[in-house]
Amino acid sequence: MKRVADVVIVGGGMVGALTAVALAETGFEVALVEHARPKNFEIDQPYDLRVSALSVASVQMLDALSVWPLITAMRACPFRRMAVWDGATGTETHFNSADIGHSQLGFIVENRLIQLGLWQVLETAAQVQLHCPAHIEHFSARRDGIEVVLDTGETIEASLLIAADGANSSVRDLAGIACDGEAYGQHALVASVRTTIDQQDITWQRFLPAGPQAFLPLVGNRASLVWYESAAVIDELKQLPLQELQSRFEEEFPTRLGGLQQIEAVGSFPIRWGQAQRYIDDRLALVGDAAHSVHPLAGQGVNMGMLDASALVQVLVEGRRKGQDAGSQRVLRRYERWRKSENGLVIKALDTTHRIFEPGAAGKRMVRNVALAGAASVSPLNRFLMKVAMGLVGDVPTLAHGVIPGKTS
Ligand SMILES: Cc1cc2nc3c(=O)[nH]c(=O)nc-3n(C[C@H](O)[C@H](O)[C@H](O)COP(=O)(O)OP(=O)(O)OC[C@H]3O[C@@H](n4cnc5c(N)ncnc54)[C@H](O)[C@@H]3O)c2cc1C
Repeated sequence: MKRVADVVIVGGGMVGALTAVALAETGFEVALVEHARPKNFEIDQPYDLRVSALSVASVQMLDALSVWPLITAMRACPFRRMAVWDGATGTETHFNSADIGHSQLGFIVENRLIQLGLWQVLETAAQVQLHCPAHIEHFSARRDGIEVVLDTGETIEASLLIAADGANSSVRDLAGIACDGEAYGQHALVASVRTTIDQQDITWQRFLPAGPQAFLPLVGNRASLVWYESAAVIDELKQLPLQELQSRFEEEFPTRLGGLQQIEAVGSFPIRWGQAQRYIDDRLALVGDAAHSVHPLAGQGVNMGMLDASALVQVLVEGRRKGQDAGSQRVLRRYERWRKSENGLVIKALDTTHRIFEPGAAGKRMVRNVALAGAASVSPLNRFLMKVAMGLVGDVPTLAHGVIPGKTS
């Protein structure tokens, strides 16, 4: 069967679904292709393992698209403060949203609930065709459009294909776009826990030579703990019975963690950075992890992807106003120039942060101390870094300020 749309998006994760909602909101006909719909929410469900620190910019995008109230009606935990310190020297820096007149620095939310909130809007949007469960078999770009063939036997004709199918993007591979990048010698052990300390509004991170240890607050006395270590150590930790793993967290994590009542779920993820050599091809654009992946130590991955989505939608809306074809290189190059350079800076900054905490040259300790002391609370650098973490620095798309492209605020 043949279907027609303005844009086909492959991948309905957090970034692909946000792209679809924003495009539908700005009047584009969208076909979204996804393997699996996110599971519905129930109030007594245990917390998912995968959570993200959403920046203020990402929250403003979701709010402008009427998705944020659906997410907060499920569960989301605001954080107002961040503490970061060097485990080797004890030099510590604090960030507090009140210092820059904001009520929070961001929210910790389960990935599935971000995706689900977006899907709840997509499922009622007249301009959206959902192809789920489905995946892409192949596509071919022509001068006047692109044809996307699905495993369901359907073919979709469109002006543009957007790949939002994650770090192992099959669309990127089918297009023959190579990636730069490398695996860090670290894995992340993530645990969803109940703490003995009640509701917290702070995220903290202690840097050790083997990797950081982090605390992300969730609603009530729940939290997500992240422990970066070598693959061998993470493997060994994952084999432990939960009671023993709990004791290891209590022994090895900073005392400010307090005690743990229970570990509810645990899993691990390899860590790498990567960036596609091109974000665009004939009638194709990459967004989110399909275009780049970063060390999660600063919680930037999905926030960068949401900025890609908003920038691409803005460029497409501007192109339409000028009568330009959505899949033309003229339009797509604007997107690539904008986001590839911004993402390149973030990838470099996170890679440098990772490397200055690695064991090695004595000079690294001095650099760390100067950086952490320079960012001490009340300094201009401290305020600037908070705005960076909130996603409000750089060439920010209008949607990140809560304004849907093509509409006035
Ligand atoms: C330990 C860890 C902690 C993290 N913490 C944070 C954080 O705090 N803040 C933050 O911003 N980021 C964080 N990240 C990064 C974040 O998880 C990713 O950047 C984000 O998930 C990328 O979203 P995406 O939608 O681009 O890709 P994905 O989440 O990978 O979604 C891709 C979607 O495409 C679908 N798909 C794939 N292939 C096909 C196909 N062929 N056909 C149809 N559908 C397909 C998949 O089913 C999926 O739904 C973290 C990452 C890790 C590993």
